[in-house]
Amino acid sequence: MHSVKKQMRVRTRITASPAVAARLIREGRVVAFPTETVYGLGALALDERSVRMIFDAKGRPADNPLIVHIGAREQVKELVRKLPKSAERLMDAFWPGPLTIVLPRSNRVSDAVTAGLDTVGIRLPSHPVALAFLRVVGVPVAAPSANRSGRPSPTSWQAVQQDLDGRIAAILKGPRSRVGLESTVVDCSGRVPVVLRAGAVSLEELREVVRGTRSASRADVEQGRSPGLRHRHYAPRARVFVGGETPARFPARSAWIGVGKAPRGVALSESCRDVRAYARALFHFFRRCEGVGIRQIYCQTVSTRGIGAALMDRLRRAAAGSVKPVG
Ligand code: AMP
Ligand code: MG
Repeated sequence: MHSVKKQMRVRTRITASPAVAARLIREGRVVAFPTETVYGLGALALDERSVRMIFDAKGRPADNPLIVHIGAREQVKELVRKLPKSAERLMDAFWPGPLTIVLPRSNRVSDAVTAGLDTVGIRLPSHPVALAFLRVVGVPVAAPSANRSGRPSPTSWQAVQQDLDGRIAAILKGPRSRVGLESTVVDCSGRVPVVLRAGAVSLEELREVVRGTRSASRADVEQGRSPGLRHRHYAPRARVFVGGETPARFPARSAWIGVGKAPRGVALSESCRDVRAYARALFHFFRRCEGVGIRQIYCQTVSTRGIGAALMDRLRRAAAGSVKPVG
């Protein structure tokens, strides 16, 4: 048995080999791997004991479901009871890629993965290392983001190591994540697709494929349709300010991130080329700020078009209340 306690005694192996990582996961162990969105923390999706180890390693609340990652589209069949036309069209358009599709689950998928929901979220990632790994594993892999619960999602293998060294069997190394924010989650179990979490695939893009797609209402969230939204995610140790006036004089140990030129007087800053680059940089920047003891992080507001919606969603949650509404 590989409990987290037992794993605490071994050093987490860092490997560049999908085959090595695949062997460990097939033994029932927990392995982190790169994807185009953020790094994932994987275990065998159809093995309940393996899945529970993910929750242990992360300290994740058991009411927050995991996304099931697959290396080939045929694998969807064994995971679901029903495959609506809308879901097939979204798969045609956006898979492999940063879109998670929620569908009525089959009885092969346990409550441990879905947190007791009657649906399962499935994604076929596009990252070549992720695909190589998932294809060698050959069976579905459940994987949330590879951070300790409540910490920013990791966009590099070093960030995974920072959070989970000694708690997981291995980290499969890859480059920095290209998207830098988690996948878009769209629920196709009802009459029309509903976006439960904004991500790299925007509502506008989804609507081009399935016209009626809408974003989640307050009622959807309150009915527990999107459990992830109830939790305070993405919380760096510093205070995060979004959308307010930047102060005439920054307090000591302030940082700034945004598009264009950084203001003067901050201890650390990141000027991004555009909104996409800002999204890619955000979580990495939060971690850098922690490394040098930043106390306040000022984040520029962006328009909620395209990936801007996902970026503003993550910023709001990081700020957890200190954000001013944007138009
Ligand atoms: P993470 O991989 O850490 O970003 O977490 C996965 C997120 O996907 C959860 O927090 C949920 O918001 C969402 N999710 C996964 N499965 C489902 C599902 N069956 N129904 C609704 N949302 C889901
Ligand atoms: Mg997460």
